[in-house]
Amino acid sequence: MTPLIEISHISRIYTMGRVTVSALKDVSLSIEGGEFVAIMGHSGSGKSTLLNILGFLDRPDEGSYKLLGRETSGFSDDELSRLRCTTAGFVFQQFHLLPRMTVMENTALPLVYSGQRRQKQIHAEQMVRDVGLEHRIEHSPAELSGGEQQRVAIARSMVNDPLILFADEPTGNLDSTNEKEILSLLKKLNSRGKTIIMVTHEMEVARHANRIISMRDGEIVSDTRTKKKQKQQAPPLSEIQVLSNRFTIVEMANFIRQALSSLISHKMRSFLSILGILIGVTSVITMMGIGGGAKQSIEEGLSALGSNVLSIRPGSHRARGVSLQAGSVTRFTLEDARSLARLPEIKAASPVVMGRGQVVYSNRNWNTTVFGVSEDYESIRASHPIAGRFFSSDEVQRREKLALLGLTLVRELFAGTNPVGKTIKINRVNFLIIGVLPELGSSPHRDRDDIIIIPVTTAMYRLLGEQYVHSIEAEVKSSELIDRAQDSISSRIRQRHNIRNDADESFSIMNMAEIREAISSTSNTIAILLGIVATIALIVGGIGIMNIMLVTVKERTREIGLRKAIGARRRDILLQFIIESALLTSIGGISGIMLGIFFAVMLGVMLKWAISISLFSIIVATVVSILIGLFFGLWPAVQASRLKPVEALRYE
Ligand code: ADP
Ligand code: MG
Repeated sequence: MTPLIEISHISRIYTMGRVTVSALKDVSLSIEGGEFVAIMGHSGSGKSTLLNILGFLDRPDEGSYKLLGRETSGFSDDELSRLRCTTAGFVFQQFHLLPRMTVMENTALPLVYSGQRRQKQIHAEQMVRDVGLEHRIEHSPAELSGGEQQRVAIARSMVNDPLILFADEPTGNLDSTNEKEILSLLKKLNSRGKTIIMVTHEMEVARHANRIISMRDGEIVSDTRTKKKQKQQAPPLSEIQVLSNRFTIVEMANFIRQALSSLISHKMRSFLSILGILIGVTSVITMMGIGGGAKQSIEEGLSALGSNVLSIRPGSHRARGVSLQAGSVTRFTLEDARSLARLPEIKAASPVVMGRGQVVYSNRNWNTTVFGVSEDYESIRASHPIAGRFFSSDEVQRREKLALLGLTLVRELFAGTNPVGKTIKINRVNFLIIGVLPELGSSPHRDRDDIIIIPVTTAMYRLLGEQYVHSIEAEVKSSELIDRAQDSISSRIRQRHNIRNDADESFSIMNMAEIREAISSTSNTIAILLGIVATIALIVGGIGIMNIMLVTVKERTREIGLRKAIGARRRDILLQFIIESALLTSIGGISGIMLGIFFAVMLGVMLKWAISISLFSIIVATVVSILIGLFFGLWPAVQASRLKPVEALRYE
């Protein structure tokens, strides 16, 4: 009959820098199904090395290993993982239970990797009962004695019904009572036909076995059968075949459940990494909302400026803000405005005076800005009334007391009803309302609908008592003529006001198109800056996740080793860590999106800022946080998946 295990001329050499240790020297051995083998020897004699090779946790440097007649030396790492999963169960001196899982979860852990969790769940319960711990099923390992912990480890090793149980000093950390219990448990398993290979350095323990192999300095020095071996039916070859490599839905669900429970069991750590992404995504959404809103409201404001409009004001650009010398300011009159309107490049021009006005209608009161303009203002600023009409040039001439209201006044004084035809008092003077101005919207600092427009003459002579106009707005016939129009206006004003050609200009001409460009490029810059700040926040969040995942990998090296020992393949580990970081990022991302929208809306309401949350910014934040999660989570995951099971298990 083919022996269960047949190794021949196996050697294993450890290299540490320049020092090499021959842990196994040309070892040959054959073990049959149903045997209970004890590997004896002093510390350092190579027992663990041999056991790890027999259990596929490590590979020999030389020699052949046949399992049921099948050569395994050509197997890949993942194939060895599958082989461990189906044929080997492990019991270690240090128990290696996962501290944050219950007895039941620890026992059932190998089922995650054999992919039959559902059917075998009951089996796991059976195993826990078998080792006599049914009353401890929901306890965590820390609540158990050493002996109980080792019993859980035995239950775990049996859950996939392996061919062979490998035990490395299973009683090494136990007192004599517990030692007896564990040994009788092993004997019970052996009597049911399970093959057991156990490492020990105590004769007292070894004598429970049916066969004792003694080792010294990496060689077998004796091999004696003490009792008859148990009968074991050798399983058909097909049973040890490597499991399929496909992922099933059940497996996937298992992985997600595993990731979730690992996140839940490390609440603080999970919370911190979620926080990183959360802050990042929140700031992206909020900042993009504010930036977009600012841009939008600035652009709305700009469109209200009218196109091809030049604004002529007293005082030079340079002098503004600095104290003006007496007589250096040109003061404009209505006649100046009329004169500019007659220039060939100019389509229309309107004088503008401004002042405050206390407006009263029945028992309501409102303080607003009063604009005195001419009839041409309607076309220059595209202020076509949405109800009623604009005043005519005749009415301007006759200084009639007519007013057009901005929407804010309609709302405040007339509660939104049509005010056309009603009479209001502005600074105690009666005015007839003839129209309602189109909506201009509001910017963070100014409500542009909080205005009243009246004829410029009325404003100057009847209401504000002004001798001069504050500015003149001139619409150029086409945008190509703007430069020429500026020159013509300048020379016309110099001529009218007798300003010498070499004298400094005491007035300024502002080009709205230029202003608009300047402002919109500023608003773009602001939006981009906010975006950059937010992106940095997001990246910092990502790095936070990476740090925590890296720490996690280090901290969980032994867990990874154990998972690999019980059958996890490289990609199982990879997937576990990727799922964990994906979960962290998506929780952080989703709550970040919600919090970001909340903050943006709150800021909008509290500061009266325009906020524009675009689907685009949400998509950007989501995609970026997912990418960050994958990118920063991947590296630690790859690190984890590359660990060798023996080395990871030994990690302190
Ligand atoms: P035992 O289990 O019998 O105490 P081991 O199989 O653990 O012995 O070790 C056999 C020899 O190999 C010892 O000299 C030990 O120092 C050495 N050894 C074991 N593991 C490693 C390793 N990972 N790196 C270097 N040397 C090792
Ligand atoms: Mg050892």
